[in-house]
Amino acid sequence: MKPDQLQPALAELDSLGLRRRRRVLDGAQGARVTVDGRDYLSFSSNDYLGLANHPVIAAAARAAAERCGVGAGAAHLLTGHHRLHHDLETELAAFVGLPSALLFSTGYMASLGVIPALLDRHGEVFEDRLNHASLVDGAVLSRARLTRYPHLDLDWLDRKLGESTARTKLIATDTVFSMDGDLAPLPELLELAEKHDAWLYVDDAHGFGVLGEAGGGALSSSRLTPHPSLIYLATLGKAAGVAGAFVAGSQELVEWLVNRARTYIYTTAQPPLLAAATSASLKLIAAETWRRERLGELITRLKAGAADLPWPLMASDTPIQPLLVGGNLEALRLADGLRERGILIPAIRPPTVPQGEARLRISLSAAHSAEDIEQLLSALRELA
Ligand SMILES: *Cc1c(COP(=O)(O)O)cnc(C)c1O
Repeated sequence: MKPDQLQPALAELDSLGLRRRRRVLDGAQGARVTVDGRDYLSFSSNDYLGLANHPVIAAAARAAAERCGVGAGAAHLLTGHHRLHHDLETELAAFVGLPSALLFSTGYMASLGVIPALLDRHGEVFEDRLNHASLVDGAVLSRARLTRYPHLDLDWLDRKLGESTARTKLIATDTVFSMDGDLAPLPELLELAEKHDAWLYVDDAHGFGVLGEAGGGALSSSRLTPHPSLIYLATLGKAAGVAGAFVAGSQELVEWLVNRARTYIYTTAQPPLLAAATSASLKLIAAETWRRERLGELITRLKAGAADLPWPLMASDTPIQPLLVGGNLEALRLADGLRERGILIPAIRPPTVPQGEARLRISLSAAHSAEDIEQLLSALRELA
């Protein structure tokens, strides 16, 4: 791309209905938001538990800012590793039932660090075709061979793992697929990993806080216990309502990442106040089971009400409830129609999803009420 090619390339995106534009949020994230100066009912955040604007979490961040200031001022391996980070890592490991955990500044950076720390050009990474971009980019950065398998096709995966002569193998998967809302079969994947002497790296960005009785995430809901080949990643900017991410697994794994994960080593530590906020969030996630129960009720209500719409909801039991529209422009028109009716839902288009599978990604939150779902359904019926 040369400087004079940018403008025509952008114009082409426009004509294909693929140009992305940012809207500006005022005030706090939540079920009701002010965006570009207008108030909306929003189904467009990953704030699944309604914690992004929780007063207890905000107070924890404020108190920590008063004690410790804002900037971490250095990377973790210099002097940026604060006691608040250190204690949070212990809490996070216990929360997901694994021996050890390591904080990263974002989930994206975690995957860019973990995969290259374990595999090089002699390795092979196996990824579900619907994995999040960060998992793909982590594999590319490692220079290992990248093999993408058809969504949830474990027979295909088994065969390819068997054929591989790579020195080190790693299977990477989302636990909850971010644009579809369906789940990966973790116990079966772990069996395959064992059988083929591979790592299993699971990205629980959309499961942490949401799945499992106490919100412990996909490992607890699939009853997985610590295993030397298991690497767990969760992000803290979605259900936990804060920011950042952590990787959990064996003690040796975490020690290795401290020494070799470049996105851990060569970046400034997160502000310690975020660790304090996450600590407060963990307590709410575990204690307030009503948030997960409310989500379950809202999912049931949406599915029942959407049955007579011309667009199908995709098969999902998680708060990610995509309405499959098909064409890019049709999805945009539907999103526009909803916006005119005061409802905000993003139209997800290629390359985020395959061609012809544009969708409205309805994402539910414990901050929504039954009336909010009814308002959405009646707007969709009008537009149908
Ligand atoms: C959001 C997301 C990430 C990235 O996490 P950030 O902390 O936002 O960088 C990684 N994986 C999946 C599946 C995600 O949905």
